[in-house]
Amino acid sequence: MQELQGIAVSPGVAIGEVLVMDTEGFRIPRRFVTRDAVEDELERLGRAITAAGAEIARKRDMVSQELGTKYGAIFEAHFQMLNDAQLRCELEEMIRQRHYSPEYAVSRTLRRYAQVFQKLESPYLAERANDIFDIEKRLLRNLLGRRREGISHLTSPVLVLAHNLTPSETANLDHRFVKGFVTEVGGPGSHTAIVAEGLGIPAVVGTGPFLSEVSGGDLVIIDGDKGLVVLHPDEEAIARYRHEVEEARTLAARLETLRDLPAETADGVCIELFGNIEFPYEVDHCIARGANGVGLYRTEFLYLGADTEPDEEAHFEAYCRVVQTMGDRPVTIRTFDLGADKVPHLPDPEDERNPFLGLRSIRLALRNLPMFRTQLRAILRASVLGKVQVMFPLVSTILELRQTKMVLADVMEDLDEHGVKFDRNLAVGMMVEVPSAVLMIDPFVEEVDFISIGTNDLIQYTLAVDRSNKDVAGLYNSADPAVLKLIAIAVKAGNRKPIPVNLCGQMSGSPIYTMLLLGFGLRQLSVTPSAIPEIKKVCRSVTIEQCEAVASRIGSMENARDIKAYLKGELQKHVPELAQ
Ligand code: PEP
Ligand code: MG
Repeated sequence: MQELQGIAVSPGVAIGEVLVMDTEGFRIPRRFVTRDAVEDELERLGRAITAAGAEIARKRDMVSQELGTKYGAIFEAHFQMLNDAQLRCELEEMIRQRHYSPEYAVSRTLRRYAQVFQKLESPYLAERANDIFDIEKRLLRNLLGRRREGISHLTSPVLVLAHNLTPSETANLDHRFVKGFVTEVGGPGSHTAIVAEGLGIPAVVGTGPFLSEVSGGDLVIIDGDKGLVVLHPDEEAIARYRHEVEEARTLAARLETLRDLPAETADGVCIELFGNIEFPYEVDHCIARGANGVGLYRTEFLYLGADTEPDEEAHFEAYCRVVQTMGDRPVTIRTFDLGADKVPHLPDPEDERNPFLGLRSIRLALRNLPMFRTQLRAILRASVLGKVQVMFPLVSTILELRQTKMVLADVMEDLDEHGVKFDRNLAVGMMVEVPSAVLMIDPFVEEVDFISIGTNDLIQYTLAVDRSNKDVAGLYNSADPAVLKLIAIAVKAGNRKPIPVNLCGQMSGSPIYTMLLLGFGLRQLSVTPSAIPEIKKVCRSVTIEQCEAVASRIGSMENARDIKAYLKGELQKHVPELAQ
């Protein structure tokens, strides 16, 4: 048994068989071949070994010629390893005796070899493990060829272990079967975290390298509460975690009884709880959890899940599904927030050195007006089907907001000219997720109908911490007093105007912050749908006076550690069943 510590990004526990996606995105499932296919599969393995051998020999000759035989010798060693009789014999045995597919046999055997090298004391020999991975990849490339499998076609439940998951991979995965994620890289605010939360499955990111220790089909436990990953768990660990899963089920069933009750505080103040969604099907999760509406629809996932840019009809169809399902409950459609970590298969701009500070989000929209207008047209057309609000992401200056609103007005005029109906009074809002927007919040609230505070970005831009970088994850903290101060300022300004103020960053789905956020004056929260019952439970267990006392006490604290400990204590005091 081996335990890895990573960053907990989506709560819950999952126990199950894994599907491994290695650094090159190879998926190596545990697969068996039928008895009568064994001879064909052995031949296929033989062909792959010959082809891989020829590639290595070519590389050896080329490198020897260009750099000298000393370097060519590296590939000669690969060639020898690949053609080792013992290796060939072991691979053939696995296919013949255990009926493993050649891919699975190659991956399992070579990973075992690599592990032996990795455990050796000598750094020189430990390095040889990389040579073995190189051979494994070469053989897999030859075996799989163009049949490289993604994670979109799954047939049984799996936990996905990957070096990294690109936004399009996460957008395309078959959500019915993926029961948990672990990635070697990634930070607390990465898109993998957001998608996992949306799916309501446990996820851990930023564990560092471990994929060589597992193969497809192995049993693993993901503890999304503590950020732990248990490889090859023993009986005791399995029993302990099964018990936790049972307890979580019991709590969920108890909270389920709150479904149709309002999120009203003990002193009668109504709080609106909205759902955050990335995909149209998640609107069903919002309904199932009794959400008051959709507070954030991250429409960029429409681009991330497609090979080509979605056209107006594709946008319209997606929005119709969401808006019509929500009926008279509001749906806040955020225009695409692409760029930075959410990069689609669109024509690639130049590589950016600091993509989070680059051509992202509303900036990208304003530079790609035809693409932006297409989306706005579809949003406006959908606005007659229900209660639609439009929201712009990452606004950082007043002029940017005005320019964006002008584009919207222009699209409206265009629709008018063509006799296309839309809701002329649809609410127009902006995300407050850059410190400059908070510092200039007074003029901003004069020009929008609502604001929504995006703490995922506000934290990264306030503290100068990349939200998807595991190496600075310790600094990425929702409880940081600087972040909390900015939230309080934005809420106050919105309430003063007054316009509706929402908070849709991930912290709003974490029960330890609920009292504080209500104490700041928030009366709307938008959370991942699976978190609605817990947040509702907190709302119904406290009074606004208690929440205000918490907010006032926090005002005198200087560091995130003390604040978090205090908030945990308050949750323990008022809603003990949710405090872990
Ligand atoms: C945020 O930044 O808090 C937010 C809700 O938007 P996203 O996570 O999509 O950047
Ligand atoms: Mg954001």
